[in-house]
Amino acid sequence: ATDHALRQAAELIREVPDFPEPGVLFRDISPLLADGAGLNAVVSALGRDFEFDVVAGVEARGFLVGAAVAQEFGTGVIGLRKPGKLPVVADRVDYTLEYGRATLELPADTLRAGQRVLIVDDVLATGGTLGAACRLVRQAGADVAAAAVVLELTALEGRDKIMGETVRALLKA
Ligand code: AMP
Repeated sequence: ATDHALRQAAELIREVPDFPEPGVLFRDISPLLADGAGLNAVVSALGRDFEFDVVAGVEARGFLVGAAVAQEFGTGVIGLRKPGKLPVVADRVDYTLEYGRATLELPADTLRAGQRVLIVDDVLATGGTLGAACRLVRQAGADVAAAAVVLELTALEGRDKIMGETVRALLKA
């Protein structure tokens, strides 16, 4: 039943060529999230069988999915944010993307040492973002229960940047 629901959810991901720049095939999960059955299927599959105390969702689509996963499994949720958004920052990690640099920030007074964290995002591409999220969690003295995404773009080998942690991708392309 789960496999069937996930296959149907996969049909709802829109592929947009040359966004946000030429040569990139953007995978937009917005139509999937807008579908009740689709959202339900991904939310329960992302958290199933993992043991975690809190969810950390990566800005911005990871916020939507992460909050839903937290609600489903009865935990709180933390938003890992792009720079300049948070009033009080506990810690930040800079990382390199395919083109340029990026930063993720952890809000103050959220994550506690020893907590087990399920990191959630929409797409695993080069792995820079999820790798940075894992570092933020570990630097706080917390543990990465797993990093879970809706879709993994396997050709980019992003998994290799997240070695040592459990990575779950519901769908692969
Ligand atoms: P990366 O750090 O390269 O793994 O990129 C992951 C982040 O960028 C995720 O938060 C995605 O939302 C976004 N992203 C990168 N590539 C794509 C793509 N082809 N389609 C959709 N989102 C992408």
